[in-house]
Amino acid sequence: MAEFSGKHVVKNVSEAGAVRHIDAFEFVRLGRSLEGSTPLARFVRLLEGLPEQDPAAVVRWSARADRGPLGEPLIRLDVETVLTLQCQRCLGPLATPIESEVALQLVETEAELDDPDVFDESDMDAIEAGRDFEKVLGSRRFDLLEQVEDELILSVPYVPRHDVCPSGGGKSGDAPDDKPSPFAVLAGLKTRPDDVGK
Ligand SMILES: [Zn+2]
Repeated sequence: MAEFSGKHVVKNVSEAGAVRHIDAFEFVRLGRSLEGSTPLARFVRLLEGLPEQDPAAVVRWSARADRGPLGEPLIRLDVETVLTLQCQRCLGPLATPIESEVALQLVETEAELDDPDVFDESDMDAIEAGRDFEKVLGSRRFDLLEQVEDELILSVPYVPRHDVCPSGGGKSGDAPDDKPSPFAVLAGLKTRPDDVGK
């Protein structure tokens, strides 16, 4: 009678790849690692306000268990993708490679998230050693992809720009008139070989 719900469950598993949630503390205790590729289109929060993305784009990510200097449970997360952003100079689309990593420190209670005392000494050490951990609430159903998404959101550049905008980016009024344009110089070079050849 209630059999039809089984079909739905199977569908969800195949869609999610079954790795979305992990038991975070167990993951660290067993020294595990995990990696995957997830379609960029699934990261709805990230894509809010961004231009249309390459439909084939994926996010590659990996998670690795580690310990901090004081034994803090850590998950080191690497994320990598290519986002299409809008160039703030020419307003055209700009393919922007994103590559980032973060060390997530698992804490057990909400209180520890913003309790400075918990982190006190290791905080100082960590900052001096260039290791500043990002505290997150660990759980038995830890949402890995949400962490991946958070890290991507933090990695989006504020003012993305082409190094050189395509198609000249051209109001001629911006260029000083006394300088020959590089295109004119090129044109001059092109005509020369004819003369030299004679
Ligand atoms: Zn541009």
